Amino acid sequence: MKVELISITSDPERVIEIAARTCYQSGDRMVPEKIGQLLPKLIAMGHESPFEHAYATFQLEDVSRAMTHQLVRHRLMAVSQKSQRYVGEGNFAWVVPPSVPPEQVAEFNDDMGTIRDMYAKWKSRGLKNEDARFVLPNACTTELVVSANFREWRHIFKVRCHPRAQWEIRAVCLNMLGQLHERAPNVFCDIVAEVEPKGT
Ligand SMILES: Cc1cc2nc3c(=O)[nH]c(=O)nc-3n(C[C@H](O)[C@H](O)[C@H](O)COP(=O)(O)OP(=O)(O)OC[C@H]3O[C@@H](n4cnc5c(N)ncnc54)[C@H](O)[C@@H]3O)c2cc1C
Repeated sequence: MKVELISITSDPERVIEIAARTCYQSGDRMVPEKIGQLLPKLIAMGHESPFEHAYATFQLEDVSRAMTHQLVRHRLMAVSQKSQRYVGEGNFAWVVPPSVPPEQVAEFNDDMGTIRDMYAKWKSRGLKNEDARFVLPNACTTELVVSANFREWRHIFKVRCHPRAQWEIRAVCLNMLGQLHERAPNVFCDIVAEVEPKGT
């Protein structure tokens, strides 16, 4: 799994604070060394629309289509994903779920090899990529670029970083959350606190 932050609004907390203070006409109360401190108050009030002014874009690689099928359900997120029509999957790679016992990983890999052979067979019989792909597994890896504003990222992280979320989307979203929290701590600190394992 590779999760790379490829673009982010510069000075995102400042942009969000300017937007919020425009609503309240309190720009004169903006203090450079206290930028961002207003943001947790906005979250507590439920005034989240100013968070729509900051954006972040990630490039994801070596993730399964089982994971991306869930992620792309988030409609306010822009998505560009590797096509299985324009790009052949003759050499597809796959993700092995960690729940496969180590002594059975070879068998899992053999099954993937069988599917690779099936794909090659149907291609050799003249099927186009768009139809040969019908035999491909959810484990097949893919690559995509996803963009969203910070309000939407907050929503995605709340539901996908939850301990009951599926393990792969949770791992991807925890990684993205960590990277955005570094760049905009006041935007994401409540979610980090929510999803962090609690001490005993
Ligand atoms: C634990 C879990 C289990 C799931 N299981 C299933 C399942 O079994 N089957 C299944 O099909 N899906 C399942 N989903 C996917 C889920 O139903 C949503 O499609 C997905 O989480 C996208 O969330 P969303 O619609 O809240 O958010 P987004 O699409 O990210 O939109 C963000 C928010 O914008 C608002 N919004 C967006 N579009 C509209 C609209 N058209 N009208 C009104 N408000 C809108 C809503 O407030 C929404 O919460 C599951 C999700 C989770 C987290």
